[in-house]
Amino acid sequence: MKTVLLLAAALVLAGCAASKYRSSNRDYKKQVKGFAKLLREYPVEDSAGLPYAPEWVGTTNFGMRRPNFVVIHHTAQNSCDQTLKTFTLARTQVSAHYVICRNGTVFHLLNDLLRAHHAGVGRWGNDTDINSSSIGIEIDNNGTEPFTAEQLASLDLLLGRLKRAYNIPVANFVGHSDIAPGRKVDPSKNFPWSDLAKNGYGLWYDTTAVQLPVDFNPMQALRIIGYDIRKPEAAIGSFKLHYLPQDTTRVIADAEKKILFSLQQQSQ
Ligand SMILES: [Zn+2]
Repeated sequence: MKTVLLLAAALVLAGCAASKYRSSNRDYKKQVKGFAKLLREYPVEDSAGLPYAPEWVGTTNFGMRRPNFVVIHHTAQNSCDQTLKTFTLARTQVSAHYVICRNGTVFHLLNDLLRAHHAGVGRWGNDTDINSSSIGIEIDNNGTEPFTAEQLASLDLLLGRLKRAYNIPVANFVGHSDIAPGRKVDPSKNFPWSDLAKNGYGLWYDTTAVQLPVDFNPMQALRIIGYDIRKPEAAIGSFKLHYLPQDTTRVIADAEKKILFSLQQQSQ
């Protein structure tokens, strides 16, 4: 009898733990059903007045669209619980595919093939809809503390899986600050971009064999790398946060031109 009671208590407790996100989980499934319905739709209704053929011809050769970028963030919050709460309330309108907690636990909040709302207004090269083309990863971090070894180990595993699954180019692992200069500063200067680059996620520079051309244009280099240079100082700020995190100036000195040229050469 005692065992039965204990078992019942354990079940109730487990039920409580599972129910915390029950309503948002239900909402997720409902929305996915709606998208599945859209995928089945033919003919697709539009208002362009196109002279569509009366007969439907469906091709046999297609797949799902795949992400081609990874955008890394820090949450600027104090716990995973806080972030999960933010991402499961409809009114916040924000989310990310993954959240990595301080102890290395990974939450996968939505299917990689669906569009998360993590990038906001952003631009990389001529891509102005980063949410549609990217996977968003949020790392639980308040913005001033170092990232934990457990988080970075999980991140490394996750990036490896994404890179293999979607064939994501090395240069397409970027930070939120890279795609939103002047608006975002995450991940912070504590983020180890050079270590990530060693493992094949994101570019890094090598200035040892760089011969700077006489007509080198640093702003054009930033643009070629991918930065939105409409606000030059903001673009330089994002570049420095990523590649020269201790440097808070907003000018490009001669030594830094070599860094830019090295990155530009890898981006062409
Ligand atoms: Zn962000």
